[in-house]
Amino acid sequence: MKPIRVGLVGSGYMGKCHAMAYNSVRTVFPDMPKLELVMLCDREGEKTATTAENFGFASHTQNWEDVVSHPEIDLVSVTTPNSLHPPISIAAAKAGKHVWCEKPMSLALADSQAMCEAVKAAGVVSMVGYNYMHNPAVAQARAFIDAGRLGNVFSFHGHFDEDYLADTEMPFSQRMESSLSGSGAMGDMMSHLISKATYLVGEVDQAFGEVRIIHTARSREDGSKVTVTNDDITHALLRFKNGATGNLTSSRINWGWKNRFDWEVGGDKGTLMLNQERLNELYFYEVGAPAEEQGFKRILNGLSTPHYSNFSPAPGHGLGFNEQKVIELKHLLDGISKGEKNYPNFADSLHVEEIMHAIQQSAKAGAWAKV
Ligand code: NAD
Repeated sequence: MKPIRVGLVGSGYMGKCHAMAYNSVRTVFPDMPKLELVMLCDREGEKTATTAENFGFASHTQNWEDVVSHPEIDLVSVTTPNSLHPPISIAAAKAGKHVWCEKPMSLALADSQAMCEAVKAAGVVSMVGYNYMHNPAVAQARAFIDAGRLGNVFSFHGHFDEDYLADTEMPFSQRMESSLSGSGAMGDMMSHLISKATYLVGEVDQAFGEVRIIHTARSREDGSKVTVTNDDITHALLRFKNGATGNLTSSRINWGWKNRFDWEVGGDKGTLMLNQERLNELYFYEVGAPAEEQGFKRILNGLSTPHYSNFSPAPGHGLGFNEQKVIELKHLLDGISKGEKNYPNFADSLHVEEIMHAIQQSAKAGAWAKV
């Protein structure tokens, strides 16, 4: 198998996650192609040279154009702020490179559509970083649903809350500015919930949204006040095409929650639920048990859940956030080297963007919006 040569743009939180995945994917999945880490890009000046060395990249630059035009790069990771996802992804695709882009895809539906068109026209493989999808417990949940163990699935309930902006003294940053980051709690967190809802339940037909800015002004370092322009809290109701109903809520300001990504799928034969703060534990209530034994069964990630044994021979020892990213990369590399369908690619993820767009349109109009 030919080695796959990698360029990574952005070396912050997600850049590090991508780098960890690149460095460990063949340890975990030995049948993956060899990777050559060619170039790291960040605008952080001097620091980028050291980061490139630490991440295992052979060279570095401050201009993302150097990565997308590099003749010896096959795959580009895009882990910059959201506003840069479209220009970098589109330029990379036009140069014939596969693209692994962080979520959400962009600030505007039209840009996400353009990203889809670019990878389709170039015939390159794409992937969007909905990493929670790759928790083996989620694959197990999907397998239960596919096998009919939940019966007729009729509901999806989900929260995704983190308190990273709960402190009203937190200074203003680009994350609170819609022209730079797009939506707030919706793009940061609800996008993950929507990706899970569509993966487990199906496509969405209509949405109803409530989008709120609670802490309307924040201070700059110099004490001057700035208006916050994207959502602190978003609520959404969904009508799925198959008749199921959904309710989702996301907040970046409710104290105490660190990664409260919890979801529940209801069917007429059972209920499945998972809370990402305890990501190795899938809960399953199945009808039919004797009355005195009824209750949720706790199923730990273990040797029978997909990919777990690649990481550990010991059931119940647990996986973490970064292992999900390694599995995500495995699927992307299978797409590139074996031509397998990897999920979710840009076309799959466009539906998440369409739903977020409908939630926003609905919140403006105060009425249900067609997706
Ligand atoms: P971050 O601020 O930690 O990192 C972003 C990096 O991009 C920084 O190092 C910054 O210097 C660099 N950068 C900015 N402009 C650049 C430019 N023009 N050229 C090169 N580098 C540039 O942010 P983050 O938390 O890593 O978020 C990045 C992306 O990842 C966002 O799209 C975010 O929504 C997404 N994200 C995804 C998850 C997930 O669970 N998949 C979690 C957090 C963030």
